[in-house]
Amino acid sequence: MPKEVFLKGLARRHEELLLETKPGEVLLSYDNGAVAHTVVVADGAVIHQRNSIGPSGQPLPAVAEPSVTYASFNEFWMAFTLEEKWWLQITKKRGPVHAVLLYPLVTHHNELLADIELTYADCRPLFDLIQFIPVAGFMLKHYLVQLCPNCRAQVRRFTARYPKRLCATCVKLPLHNTAGERLEFTYLGEWTGFRVKITSPRGNVREETHLHGLPFRLNGRNYRAGSERGGGAHYSVLEGQRNYLI
Ligand SMILES: [Zn+2]
Repeated sequence: MPKEVFLKGLARRHEELLLETKPGEVLLSYDNGAVAHTVVVADGAVIHQRNSIGPSGQPLPAVAEPSVTYASFNEFWMAFTLEEKWWLQITKKRGPVHAVLLYPLVTHHNELLADIELTYADCRPLFDLIQFIPVAGFMLKHYLVQLCPNCRAQVRRFTARYPKRLCATCVKLPLHNTAGERLEFTYLGEWTGFRVKITSPRGNVREETHLHGLPFRLNGRNYRAGSERGGGAHYSVLEGQRNYLI
């Protein structure tokens, strides 16, 4: 089923869940070490409460920043997601995420990718925020889009572990190592790795086998070929030593 169909179903569920919420229901709670945040439903409105945290970790009524009341869920969501990479603030001591947040989180993720490229470090807390929301049958791959880091086209298959893999078209582009040699990969299997045909700028050809793939460059960026856990090859952006999400 295409993602649009899944998303339409999720949008409908979101509207139903919004109507079902009761005053006092917690949508999200977390602390950032100094302030405990609680987002609560209140008669059609949404209140973002902030309490200072005492020396032994207990929330104190004295607020570092005042609580804010929003007239609607959408108003809250707009304000909440205003800051760039806002989700990096809410990784600590997070309580359960209410199902009503699932649709906005998913659409936010998908729209975000159209504007910026996320790092592997950005992806993990955002995926974690989304994937543990208790909605029956929910799977990231049905809803989240993934863009090729080179051409920005949507890759056919979303994989949470390899969020920065090249699309099938870009894998076929001329790939080179840092010495300017052309690399042509043939994936042999999870336990055998890659056969690589290496052609020097002068046209000399040699072949090597690399169990764990090889780094390469494309349009000025570093990538690395690797075996997917469970089989298959991926050709993903290299950030530091990593070309996948832990
Ligand atoms: Zn591409």
